Amino acid sequence: MRGPLLRPGDADYEQACQLYNAMIHKRPAMVARCADVADVIASVNFAREQGLALAVRGGGHSGAGLGLVDDGLVIDLSHLRDVRVDPEARTVRVAGGCVWGDVDHATHAFGLAVPSGIISTTGVGGLTLGGGTGHLTRRFGLTIDNLLAVDVVLADGRLVTASAERHTDLFWAVRGGGGNFGVVTSFLFRAHPVGIVVGGPTLWPLDRAAEVMRWYREFLPAAPEDLNGFFAFMTVPPAPPFPESLHLQKMCGVVWCYTGAPARADALFAPVKALKPALHGVQPMPYPMLQAAFDGLYPPGLQWYWRADFVRELSDEAIARHVEFAERLPTMHSTMHLYPVDGAAHRVGPHDTAFRFRDARWSQVMVGVDPSPERAADITAWAKDYWDAVHPYSAGGAYVNFMMDEGQDRVRATYGDNYARLLAVKNRYDPTNLFSVNQNIQPDPVPPPHVAH
Ligand SMILES: Cc1cc2nc3c(=O)[nH]c(=O)nc-3n(C[C@H](O)[C@H](O)[C@H](O)COP(=O)(O)OP(=O)(O)OC[C@H]3O[C@@H](n4cnc5c(N)ncnc54)[C@H](O)[C@@H]3O)c2cc1C
Repeated sequence: MRGPLLRPGDADYEQACQLYNAMIHKRPAMVARCADVADVIASVNFAREQGLALAVRGGGHSGAGLGLVDDGLVIDLSHLRDVRVDPEARTVRVAGGCVWGDVDHATHAFGLAVPSGIISTTGVGGLTLGGGTGHLTRRFGLTIDNLLAVDVVLADGRLVTASAERHTDLFWAVRGGGGNFGVVTSFLFRAHPVGIVVGGPTLWPLDRAAEVMRWYREFLPAAPEDLNGFFAFMTVPPAPPFPESLHLQKMCGVVWCYTGAPARADALFAPVKALKPALHGVQPMPYPMLQAAFDGLYPPGLQWYWRADFVRELSDEAIARHVEFAERLPTMHSTMHLYPVDGAAHRVGPHDTAFRFRDARWSQVMVGVDPSPERAADITAWAKDYWDAVHPYSAGGAYVNFMMDEGQDRVRATYGDNYARLLAVKNRYDPTNLFSVNQNIQPDPVPPPHVAH
């Protein structure tokens, strides 16, 4: 290997074992910090030949801690960070270990952006392979709807390129099927002209939450697709840019991202202002600035527990349950988000990619977060109880990237009638389940080799 192989006792080993979610601790036997594709191939071959459990770490943001594995080998991609923009073709080639901030930085220089999430420290690998919802979803679709090709190191050590023309079944599966099929060493994305956006939060006091949610469920789906807005419950951080009068108040709000003509912004936000918010912090800013707006509030090393579901409609009853749990937000960092998955994301069919819930309108996630391990039990209980209360109003499955270790039934519910095709692709490309540390598609048992008597 060109990159280091870290083992317990090595200087960088402890740092390599830290996950974004500090609630999860794992002790791999070794961490292969790959320097190039050849290192990835060597590591995959080594894990397979030695019968080692194998995990693949992209940005390390998985709430369930899927970037590490106890006692096994970790393929750590964090040194594969190259981004190359082709401004004429409007495409971006992104190495498998990049985080979104790497991509935003590179593309913004050309007035371009790739649709991703809402935070810049999240890994491109995990977010993309699960689907990718964020500020640009309504206008340009999910992240996978902008994926043109991937280079994948397969379980047998071969590297293949999957695209609309090559290994098309694999290309279908990696668009939503997570890390089940191999190690993606390179992503090729389509980029869009997005430079300055009009974005930021609008906040209302929590006692108006039911009214604001009912308004939001009507307003956003009818709004032009160049307006995105995710709904949130939150506690206002005690720091600028928030006015002191709002510090530590529990509130509800919408975080906007408008990418259309600047001249139309005032008219578009007029109905929002008419709802008399306590804060309308919406302003023009570079897209990477909006993407990084929450980075400071959510540094690595906090305790996280999340639960999620897709939602087709927000009934009055569901809203009542939401408000109940918003009033009990257990800590300042805890939150609930409703990410829109409509607009351009709805124009791709439920069977066109592995991402099944194209008919959902929102992806909801309730997230208990706190710096202190002493609050781990509280934030977990709140997120679980909240999920229990609103799950009956959901579409049945969840975004794989917002799931903890919730068992096979949840994985199957999430892929619905795409599961059978995912299983066929898994049987073909990873029949022994070498890539199992993910929201796992469990292959059919491999028959033992025939022994001649
Ligand atoms: C603060 C925060 C904000 C988030 N916001 C959003 C959001 O706005 N939108 C959204 O869609 N999601 C969001 N997520 C969820 C995020 O998409 C998932 O946590 C995702 O798994 C993170 O990817 P990662 O590469 O950082 O994670 P990792 O923990 O490194 O990996 C997660 C999974 O992906 C696999 N994987 C990662 N890279 C590769 C690769 N190159 N090849 C093969 N498999 C790979 C891993 O094996 C693992 O199974 C957020 C998460 C956090 C913590």
